[in-house]
Amino acid sequence: MRPTAELSRLVLLRHPDYSGQVGMNSTIRFRTAGFSLVEMLVVVTIIAAIAALITTAVMSALQQQSARVCQNNMLTIEAAKDEYIRDHPGATSIDESAFAQYFRFGIPKCPDGGSYQQYLYSLTNQVSCTRHGALQAFPSATP
Ligand SMILES: [Zn+2]
Repeated sequence: MRPTAELSRLVLLRHPDYSGQVGMNSTIRFRTAGFSLVEMLVVVTIIAAIAALITTAVMSALQQQSARVCQNNMLTIEAAKDEYIRDHPGATSIDESAFAQYFRFGIPKCPDGGSYQQYLYSLTNQVSCTRHGALQAFPSATP
């Protein structure tokens, strides 16, 4: 409901923000309830931009986390291979079923679906992931 001009003037004159600023010939524009289309578009645009930034940051962090988990898995596999070699002196290859006994929860798997099969049972070559590449000697402790 739009107030009449006289009522608007009265209301504005009583309002502390407008007291003394409204002359007799002033054009008074009253807002109706709600937001304009431009205001809504600005708000939606800002929210979309913030959501895009957050989504990008979260996805990047998840990818980094997966890569770190994969590196730790490969470190665990290499440590188990060292133990296997100590426990089986003179072995020329790694027996798959015996090797699985070195892991409480089975041979670790890449969190991103990569494969460790290449060199997993090799005594001479280090394990590597098809998605995350070779094992780094000392993965960076800094993020
Ligand atoms: Zn991997």
